[in-house]
Amino acid sequence: MTSRVESWRSISARLEAPAARDLNAAICYDADTIHRQSEVAQIKGSDSGISGLSFGIKDNICTLEYPTTCASRMLQGYQSPYEATAVNRLKEAGGVISCKTNLDEFGMGSSTEHSAFGRTLHPISGDRVPGGSSGGSAALVAGGAVDAALGSETGGSVRQPAAFCGIVGVKPTYGRVSRHGLVAFGSSLDQIGVLAPTVDRAAKTLAAISGRDVKDSTCADLDPFELEEPSVDFSHLTIGVPAEYYSDSLDPGVRHACLQTISVMSSGGATIREVSLPLTAAAIPTYYIIAPAEASSNLARFDGVRFGTRASRNAIDGLSCMYKATRGSGFGPEVRRRIIVGTYVLSAGYYDAYYKKAVAARQRIADEFSRVFSDGIDLLFTPTAPTTAFRAGEKLNDPVAMYRADAFVCPANLARVPAVSLPIGRASGLPIGGQLMAPVFGESTMLGAASLLEDRVDSMQEF
Ligand code: GLN
Repeated sequence: MTSRVESWRSISARLEAPAARDLNAAICYDADTIHRQSEVAQIKGSDSGISGLSFGIKDNICTLEYPTTCASRMLQGYQSPYEATAVNRLKEAGGVISCKTNLDEFGMGSSTEHSAFGRTLHPISGDRVPGGSSGGSAALVAGGAVDAALGSETGGSVRQPAAFCGIVGVKPTYGRVSRHGLVAFGSSLDQIGVLAPTVDRAAKTLAAISGRDVKDSTCADLDPFELEEPSVDFSHLTIGVPAEYYSDSLDPGVRHACLQTISVMSSGGATIREVSLPLTAAAIPTYYIIAPAEASSNLARFDGVRFGTRASRNAIDGLSCMYKATRGSGFGPEVRRRIIVGTYVLSAGYYDAYYKKAVAARQRIADEFSRVFSDGIDLLFTPTAPTTAFRAGEKLNDPVAMYRADAFVCPANLARVPAVSLPIGRASGLPIGGQLMAPVFGESTMLGAASLLEDRVDSMQEF
């Protein structure tokens, strides 16, 4: 059980501190709600290791405490009648839901600039982005305003902001954590993940939220995750280094930090082997067909009738006009772009050329991962992102450049394997993330190795 019992006043004060407020990362919180939950957590007690800790929840995850808006005008003020299984389990483990966190609208973006609440600032450098789409969660954890946070991943939205903000981000195996209560974006890819200051806290949080759930038929029939004891030793591990992640376009600081981390693993006794994942470059086009295709279907429910804020009366002239006006005014430009792309790749005549091809490519990408893992590789080590946090506005008008920021994170989502990002150094004062990927349901070895690295790598070293 955690020894620190923090008062609800201090949990609220951390969110209300000017430095935290300036980030524009917490989009909804309230001292009374925090007070009530802290009392419940204290009475209940728990040996989960996260009891009494405060959690930010990405605002596309349903909570009873606060509205769930997905940072969209479409869901302004929407109060979910139920809470996500992951949130319910956090509370059962003694966690205090302190706030909802900012995101790119419906999880679509890599910078937390596509939000109806305005952009979230990077916690170290305000003119930079915190990454996305779980940028609010990452910035609050990095700024110490919450003890840990939940985010969601469809294509890297936990690991990329974790890397940019200098914290730990875990994307579990698809099916490890229930998706019940996570607003769907790309259902075959979506997974709730954890952002935390340390690997240990991320692992304890994952343990609390994981495990079978009858409310999600895609959730695996497995017990909650447990970190194996005694933990992993490098001398038992073969680490694969995929050449495709270390091309010439990699930021020099990121490259040097990764090479240094590889030498730390090697001197710890790990066997390092260069491997090849030739389809790495296909991940972005594949992801940016499958995710929008699924999004176009999932977001059809936001029509002002079933869900969503209906457009104002004066904009409406007949039923189809009502749908158009509602969807045109409720969704921001990036969400509209995804719906249009998704509808296009699913339409008659283009389905075979785009969607079907992408589904086949996805299978081949997954097969590539299976091949290296069945060929003696325990874990893969790569940079999490090709660069450190970029400037706000830099990629806003160039969607393809924005999508490229996900080049190293998307493959794990397509292959459904678990992955973790952890801080491994800095370049010009900005954090650099290193990524470990493991075979399906290999979280225990992966987080054991991440924890060893955390102890041995100086995450403040400049490269
Ligand atoms: N950046 C990716 C996108 O825009 C990933 C988003 C996510 O993982 N939710 O789709």
